[in-house]
Amino acid sequence: MKEKRKLIVLGQDGAIPYVVAEGMARGDLPHFSALAGRGVFARVLPHPSAVTPGNWAHVSTGALPWTTGISEFALHRVGAPFTDWVHAFAREECRAETVWEILGRRGLRSATISYPHGRPRAGELHAAIGGDGAPSELCPFTTVARSRGLFTSNLSPADPYGWKEHEPLELVGDRATFAVGPKVGGKIAPWCELSATLAGSGRVEIRESGRLVAEVSPGEWTPWIECAGRHQDRELGCELRVRPLVADRERAQLALYVGALQAKETFADPPELSAALRRKLGPYTEPLSISALLNGWIDPQGMLEEFREQALWQARAAVHLTRELGYACVFAKWHAFDKFYHFFFQKIDPESPLYRPEEMEHYEAIHQGILQAADAMVGEVLEGMGPDTLLVVMSDHGLMPSRRHLYLNNFLANRGYLATTGEPDGQGRLQVDWSRTRAVAHPFTQIWINTQGRDPEGIVKPGEEYEAVREEMIEALREWKDPETGRLVMSQVFRVEEGAPYGLGGPADGDIRFFCEPGYSMFRTTAVTADRREMVPATGPYLGDHGSCLPTARLGRGSETAMLVMAGPQVRRGYSRPYPLRISDVLPTALTALGWPLPGQSEGGVAMDCLEP
Ligand SMILES: [Zn+2]
Repeated sequence: MKEKRKLIVLGQDGAIPYVVAEGMARGDLPHFSALAGRGVFARVLPHPSAVTPGNWAHVSTGALPWTTGISEFALHRVGAPFTDWVHAFAREECRAETVWEILGRRGLRSATISYPHGRPRAGELHAAIGGDGAPSELCPFTTVARSRGLFTSNLSPADPYGWKEHEPLELVGDRATFAVGPKVGGKIAPWCELSATLAGSGRVEIRESGRLVAEVSPGEWTPWIECAGRHQDRELGCELRVRPLVADRERAQLALYVGALQAKETFADPPELSAALRRKLGPYTEPLSISALLNGWIDPQGMLEEFREQALWQARAAVHLTRELGYACVFAKWHAFDKFYHFFFQKIDPESPLYRPEEMEHYEAIHQGILQAADAMVGEVLEGMGPDTLLVVMSDHGLMPSRRHLYLNNFLANRGYLATTGEPDGQGRLQVDWSRTRAVAHPFTQIWINTQGRDPEGIVKPGEEYEAVREEMIEALREWKDPETGRLVMSQVFRVEEGAPYGLGGPADGDIRFFCEPGYSMFRTTAVTADRREMVPATGPYLGDHGSCLPTARLGRGSETAMLVMAGPQVRRGYSRPYPLRISDVLPTALTALGWPLPGQSEGGVAMDCLEP
């Protein structure tokens, strides 16, 4: 089948519609404005839980959580112990058919780039570029070693949480050497040896096995340095860059950011596509090392350059694949907004209890840099794509500043639904005594009644007893108050089948679901702890969050609600939709515009108002 029309979906994970709309109104995001002017701007309601794997699956399938089987960041397999969970990003976990599967059956090529459920590839006509979309800083499909920070002992990086993940750099004379390679058993397997020599005037000479590869100053990248070795039973060619952070010969101070070690020509399946794309577009990068900024291993400009290069690579790949290589559709996902908001929302939003006005300007400049990279990504595709291409730029959820982290399993333990046994471990955590436990929150936002005949150590009888426990617990949760404010913690608590308006009610969706009030997060703390505390001020690196609240929730500059901007054939021009779409409506609407068939389990609606009459 020959197909002139193309579909490009640029997923901008975690982008907040209100923030993007403000940027457009100020005139700061010309390409977003151009796209919205040629098409539709809308808010998008994620399906619960408003997290990454499920919502990108609702986009690629048009199906709801009860059909995709993904309503959580991790999955509980019904009948498995409540101590187990399953990675929600693997292809086999998505129970609904994706758009690239149906297009493949019609003889059309599709590509996914770092897109959830894109791995393994779904057939001869699907190209899986990058990883499975999980937002790790060590993508097992494309990365051999994560980024590192190397410091002489007379320097101390920011390291705000005391992770001590930076590594020592020892100067012998003016020179320090360090090995590069994957970590095996906590130690680096040395694939190659690099050295950095303080050359005066803030210059650093970087050598690989004695050969000079670059002379750079702080704030400059070395060219890509190749190195190869054996990894997971095969020979692998990789590449990385180094960026000095501090280079002071007089003080004998040297700090280096060593970027992630990326597979050079094996980041895609089929592998031969990797080489072709690398030749055309340069090195493929996947992890976004936000922790390097947090830990003081990289300067903001360096991080923004990494983020921007990745955005542009994805955009150029989408254009190249659709215009030159005969692909009908590309689904890409870029994780920059999500990464930044998780770690730094408190720096840019006065609604956060940890906000400090004196830090705002510095971090807002970084935030605006990410928005500029997102805008450049849109511009790159708008400029390069063909005339019959439908471009969809969207997020899967927004984020909001966190105020409190909830310990829901402590709440259940304090009210006698969950029993513990033994002494606390080194981190103050207690083991659950399943023989006396009636309910548990697992993995994060689902509450399960420990039911006889369904769960391995179930004690609650199905039927009347199960319903009585559910009813009691729903009431207890509805009455849960924040002792500091006296206000209710939960917006909604309901039997899972009452979640049908949100697409909840499938066997993997839990027995009770809930939405917290904005500012409360469930995602950091499912442990049962000896201190039995039920909530704490938000602490640790995750000071922006999503996934626990109503899809319509807003707080400060943030929202749980996601974003959509799209334009192309049959799409209505210059239309700002007054009401949000549901995220499962996006694919049916886009495919209807293209005149393409819908995947078999697609059940979202077609928003006819977004199309030309
Ligand atoms: Zn996400």
